Amino acid sequence: MVFAHPDDAEWGLAGTVARWVRDGTEVEYVCVTDGSAGSNDPATTRERLVRSRREEQEAAGRVLGVSRCTFLGFVDGALEVSLDLRRAITREVRRFRPDVLVAPDPARLWDRGRTYVNHPDHKAVGVACLAVVNPDAPTRPQFPELLAEGYEPFEIPNLWMSTGDDPDTYVDITGTIDVKAEALRCHASQIHDWPVEDWLRARAKETAASQTAASQGMVYAEAFRTFRLKDAEDPDEAR
Ligand SMILES: [Zn+2]
Repeated sequence: MVFAHPDDAEWGLAGTVARWVRDGTEVEYVCVTDGSAGSNDPATTRERLVRSRREEQEAAGRVLGVSRCTFLGFVDGALEVSLDLRRAITREVRRFRPDVLVAPDPARLWDRGRTYVNHPDHKAVGVACLAVVNPDAPTRPQFPELLAEGYEPFEIPNLWMSTGDDPDTYVDITGTIDVKAEALRCHASQIHDWPVEDWLRARAKETAASQTAASQGMVYAEAFRTFRLKDAEDPDEAR
């Protein structure tokens, strides 16, 4: 799971994380920025926020059973799709060698109800992850410095994008929405006294009301757009 800020994963897809962990899947987090722009309180500083948000993210990961959370340390609010960013994500992908890379949907400029404009850091991480899928992670001449560090090329089999727009895959989080709420509450600096639980339930219910999810009897769901990039039945692969 690659995401821009501490708390992004908990808002967007922690129900899926908890389900995958419960079903025996190893899940790792890669948090790209340091979260240092996550407060308008004049009494706080970027340095203080970096520390508290890292602790909050680690606590949320523990609640969900995430096996490792790597912080890439890019500055919150200043993220650009750069070779540095692509290299940093590629390093983690080549190390962990996931069956599924989960990334934010970079095509999302705003929400459907036009009540929210998407954060540029989210879009930058999404675009960088597409570059990691192709060509950065699987291509040997990309980033020879990573080869020198021992990270061999890796072809990512599946890409999932967390999205509210045009999803093709729904994960039933009815059994894990409580643990999702508990993980989200770990981000105390972001939540304050907000009734996050109500918001989470309303949103997950709305997602589950879509035709595909409803036909599968889901009460609460999270939605993804998925890409199957490597298929054993593909004649190109079988050759
Ligand atoms: Zn965010």
